[in-house]
Amino acid sequence: MTTENLSAILHTVNDLRLENRPIPQPKENEVLLRMDKVGICGSDVHYWVNGRIGDFVVTKPMVLGHEAAGVVQEVGKGVTHLKAGDRVAIEPGVPCRTCDYCKGGRYNLCLEMAFCATPPFDGNLARFYTHAADFCYKLPDHMTMEEGALLEPLSVAVHACRRAGVTIGQKILICGAGPIGLVCLLTAKAMGASTVIITDISESRLEVAKTLGADHTLLVSQNDAETLAQQVAEKLGSLSDVTIECSGAESSIRLAIFGTRSGGVVVLVGLGQAEIKVPIVNAAVREVDIRGIFRYANCYPTALQLVATGLVNVKPLITHRFTLEETVKAFETARAAAAGTIKVMISCFD
Ligand code: NAD
Ligand code: ZN
Repeated sequence: MTTENLSAILHTVNDLRLENRPIPQPKENEVLLRMDKVGICGSDVHYWVNGRIGDFVVTKPMVLGHEAAGVVQEVGKGVTHLKAGDRVAIEPGVPCRTCDYCKGGRYNLCLEMAFCATPPFDGNLARFYTHAADFCYKLPDHMTMEEGALLEPLSVAVHACRRAGVTIGQKILICGAGPIGLVCLLTAKAMGASTVIITDISESRLEVAKTLGADHTLLVSQNDAETLAQQVAEKLGSLSDVTIECSGAESSIRLAIFGTRSGGVVVLVGLGQAEIKVPIVNAAVREVDIRGIFRYANCYPTALQLVATGLVNVKPLITHRFTLEETVKAFETARAAAAGTIKVMISCFD
């Protein structure tokens, strides 16, 4: 076995290098993983381009990557449910397990969360990586490693749809047809939504959404949010029961509120500017609930089942593939987000 651990390390803004680091040793309740597939997320690109997301600042070199699947190479002494050779999806955030949030099951809100590629924690875009064994989920033989890696964004969608209370027969508005909007589309459909309309400013992303099962699309133009909401109502036959906002754009969050029926729910997945202007009285007097989401908790097993049973097909999301050595090229492709680019996937071993 090689002793080298080629890793994609972000040193500072626009300075992403491939360097060898030592292969880590698994602690008692950890596994050593031979990394297989790692998807590039918007946040990885954001750290590369800006060096920070909000209060999370890259102050020392950090390995990127958190949408990942790998093969167990070695298990720590305390690990009983996994063995060498098991193929696993890696839930990238490990919480403290003892605080009130963790005990209450909302571990995504844990203040001690160690999340891959969120400073100061290293990610897993590397050849070898150790992780808490109970945050690794064994994949059935018929699932690919790429599908395992895509359980990460899919878990965001599962959490968003759960927080929204998506259920059978509902009309859903999804704002933004990037990777996250698209996995929300797939998940809402799997959870029984009868009709989904999805918006974007990019025609090509809406084309992809149609092929993934969107019933209606709305190319968002210069129109104001209230006019757009009328267009949503015309297409759906009424305003939406639930709206899942996945762009973070102010105009889109305004549409999310105006486009939701009275008594409905808006879930804010997209994270844009910290403070924006929204029609808050309109939401208040129509009892439209506005709920945020932060990543996910207890969603990986569900995401895995959705894919394993064929309820959701995430494979069409992958549009580009690169090797670990080609990481910078892969990031340039993800950053350009040219027409037709959805998910860029990296193979850690050729
Ligand atoms: P993305 O940038 O690839 O997709 C955003 C999409 O929104 C793009 O297709 C873009 O064309 C579209 N868009 C931009 N302005 C719009 C507008 N006014 N109306 C409609 N669509 C518009 O990003 P992504 O990877 O799909 O992630 C989406 C958002 O979700 C990001 O803001 C990201 O930070 C956020 N996110 C949040 C969480 C969380 O835990 N809350 C987790 C993952 C991602
Ligand atoms: Zn905790």
